[in-house]
Amino acid sequence: MTAIIIDGKEIAKKKKMEIIDQVTEMKKQDFTPGLAVILVGDNQASRTYVNSKQKTAKELGMHNVLIEYPSSITEHELLAKIDELNNDEAIHGILVQLPLPAHINETNLIEAISPEKDVDGFHPLNIGRMMTGQDAFLPCTPYGVMVMLEEIGLNLEGKHVVIVGRSNIVGKPAGQLFLKENATVTYCHSKTKDLAVHTKKADIVVSAVGKAGLITADHIKPGAVVIDVGMNRDEQGKLCGDVAYAEVKEKAGYITPVPGGVGPMTITMLMYNTLKSAKNHLNNLQNSNI
Ligand code: NDP
Repeated sequence: MTAIIIDGKEIAKKKKMEIIDQVTEMKKQDFTPGLAVILVGDNQASRTYVNSKQKTAKELGMHNVLIEYPSSITEHELLAKIDELNNDEAIHGILVQLPLPAHINETNLIEAISPEKDVDGFHPLNIGRMMTGQDAFLPCTPYGVMVMLEEIGLNLEGKHVVIVGRSNIVGKPAGQLFLKENATVTYCHSKTKDLAVHTKKADIVVSAVGKAGLITADHIKPGAVVIDVGMNRDEQGKLCGDVAYAEVKEKAGYITPVPGGVGPMTITMLMYNTLKSAKNHLNNLQNSNI
């Protein structure tokens, strides 16, 4: 069996067209969604991600601001900037590109962002809202995974999903989103004994670890759906996921490639969240004028 490839690039393109239409409509009301990105230091990978977010925001017609600081900036100064952005009417989404230099406490910064502008979905209030099934900004990567599965028309009810990785930004929230869709969820992590025993039972495997070649054909049940969140460099320096793609694709039912899988969805869902925040803001403005 050769797996059907879930084309994240194509799905992202379709979602971006929908966003462009909505931004165009908003602009007719003299209102433009705005995203502010804070970049600290000169981490090359962070700069690449930030450039890509900015490029996408621009493509979608959004107002976007990049605020750059040297790594010597203090936490106090960053908190003051976040406070200013929280009160900036032209900004509806704020994100601080991680990782940050060691002297800055990431949690303090994330918690300083207004939950109403937390388009990364990292603020504890949004995480709590998501966990309790309330309306929230969903973390962009797991959100993107769910949208991909929706696009291929997969019914998740009763499916056994094994999530490999339990980070706060990918693994943990991914499990919660599957649970909400009535899937049965198993979490695996670095202390899991015999990973393959678990993954082999899964209808859907989501790998969010950061280890090239971790998931092989021996980890997969024939016909399973394999979602590869990992982003690694192979020995030739080429971008690759956690999944041994060539062999797993011959056994799985569906598979996401790297690049061109989950990655493009993450940025798209960030834009979707920014649009959602802008819509909320516009509605509030209109209601306050009634
Ligand atoms: P973290 O490093 O925060 O988490 C990695 C997780 O993998 C941890 O829970 C860890 O377990 C677990 N783990 C480590 N080794 C093993 C192992 N041998 N077997 C099973 N589990 C293991 O990473 P992130 O969640 O931030 O990111 C994961 C990957 O996804 C990375 O490659 C990252 O680059 C990529 N990524 C991709 C995105 C995209 O848009 N495509 C977006 C965000 C991330 P423990 O908790 O026990 O330490």
